[in-house]
Amino acid sequence: MEKKQFQAESKRLLEMMINSIYTQKEIFLRELISNASDAIDKIYYKALTDDALVFDKDSYFIKVVADKANRTLTIRDTGIGMTKEDLENNLGIIAKSGSLAFKKENEAKDGHNIIGQFGVGFYSAFMVADVVTVTSKALNSDVAYRWQSTGADGYTIEACEKDSVGTEIVLTIKDNSEDDNYDEYLDEYRLKAIIKKYSDFIRYPIKMDIAGKRLKEGSESEFEDYEEEQHVNSMVPIWRKNKSELTPEDYEKFYHEKHYGFDKPLKHIHVSADGAVIYQAILFIPENMPFDYYSKEFEKGLELYANGVLIMDKCADLLPDYFSFVKGMVDSESLSLNISREMLQHDRQLKLIAKNIQSKIKGQLQSLLKDERDKYEQFYKAFGRQLKFGVYSDYGTHKDVLQDLLMFYSSKEKKLVTLDEYIARMPEDQKYIYYASGESIERIDKLPQTEIVSEKGYEYLYFTDDIDEFAIKMIMTYKEKEFKSVSSGDLGIEADDKEAENESDKNENQELFDYMKNLLSGKVSNVKASKRLKTHPVCLSTDGDVTIEMEKILNAMPN
Ligand code: ADP
Ligand code: MG
Repeated sequence: MEKKQFQAESKRLLEMMINSIYTQKEIFLRELISNASDAIDKIYYKALTDDALVFDKDSYFIKVVADKANRTLTIRDTGIGMTKEDLENNLGIIAKSGSLAFKKENEAKDGHNIIGQFGVGFYSAFMVADVVTVTSKALNSDVAYRWQSTGADGYTIEACEKDSVGTEIVLTIKDNSEDDNYDEYLDEYRLKAIIKKYSDFIRYPIKMDIAGKRLKEGSESEFEDYEEEQHVNSMVPIWRKNKSELTPEDYEKFYHEKHYGFDKPLKHIHVSADGAVIYQAILFIPENMPFDYYSKEFEKGLELYANGVLIMDKCADLLPDYFSFVKGMVDSESLSLNISREMLQHDRQLKLIAKNIQSKIKGQLQSLLKDERDKYEQFYKAFGRQLKFGVYSDYGTHKDVLQDLLMFYSSKEKKLVTLDEYIARMPEDQKYIYYASGESIERIDKLPQTEIVSEKGYEYLYFTDDIDEFAIKMIMTYKEKEFKSVSSGDLGIEADDKEAENESDKNENQELFDYMKNLLSGKVSNVKASKRLKTHPVCLSTDGDVTIEMEKILNAMPN
């Protein structure tokens, strides 16, 4: 039997692969810069073991040069370079990663900063370029080689001249088409912005020649063109710095630089996790609710970096909905750069990080509540509703995380109190945690049912938010105390009153009650004498689980 090879239109395959991995064209620059950074890392690691090699930090950098006239974009590095074999193996074979091999070979040494491992990033250059030309001279080699390709049609390799060790990649940028603008990849300011966005924390300098106009020296009106080499990336990310070196202002500046919000952060959390999963994170609890928080436009999520390189703007999987107000970023060396959204969802590392982050946020909120009550109340006024939604959502599965963070306005304290504080104040004979639902505190205070609770010296909580009662129904009991609406049939206070309620009382008015029940036919299930009324002539009460307020909300909901 003859065995046949699969035939594949490699150009199409390459296009499909690139387009399925990358949703934005601009990331080609991130990929090429990451490769350049890996190449410099490799020299650095070699220098660690090779005494003949000195790593002089100043001579290692990445340079990006745009040439509008020739439509070329050049990315040059002073890294380890590639031999002819390297060019053939690493650029000639799709999905072959020289960097992964390097990491494996050098496992004993600390090689974890190297980013590449999938062997596909390089080809993203073809999203924006018709021709890619790679000129490279490997370390300890006298000859240089030029690799050139127009995509998957194949490539050529020839010997060439190159003075210094390293690699130069020249992209011939595509012409604009109807759908796509490629000119932007020749625009220095746009390129600089892309570098800032994705590669700001590459640990080697990324340099660009930036042209501009400036006032001529000694003149107040005459301008001159000039060009200067700028160092574009900030290199050391704030999250890798030591907490003790950083001031609250540093965090605030970062918050604004990152456009996390226009407000001031209420609190920051700086995590450097070194345990089962290694990551750094800077998280913020904002001061104010973003204007679009409860709109469809609002997207929760944290920025996600793999080893200092941005891989996702808003990684939603890192935050549960009930903490969706948290802003910030996570950087982990356990994640890989080319990971796709779909793969990320199933990533075990990411799940661990998310879990870890959730408990950090909870911990920070708890200490805020304990130590900075004012700030906590400010936070709660902005985002408390979200916590209550969290308690209610998913059938109450998150209530254990959230219930001790809840606050309600108290009839006794006339301010927000926690459930713990409520319970600590309960007189011994009080059985339940009482609450009263209504539109506002003023309206609730007018409810006949609150009178008896107050008179008994018990505290009740005001439920003025639609969600309050629904959330509490999920909690059911807090520290073994059941919640009780003041308008429920059995308040657990009337035991002593009940005895006094004699039969004759009942019979005396039975005719009147029947008449009233008739009159309100269908609207009430019963009319009876009550001992719980003080200054009011009548009140409504419920027997079942759904209170009058809940019924109102349920009825108002669209079917
Ligand atoms: P990855 O970075 O995931 O390994 P790439 O497709 O981005 O995959 O790159 C393929 C390989 O080509 C790299 O692993 C590396 O061995 C080699 N390479 C790419 N760019 C450079 C460069 N600038 N200098 C040296 N080697 C490079
Ligand atoms: Mg790469």
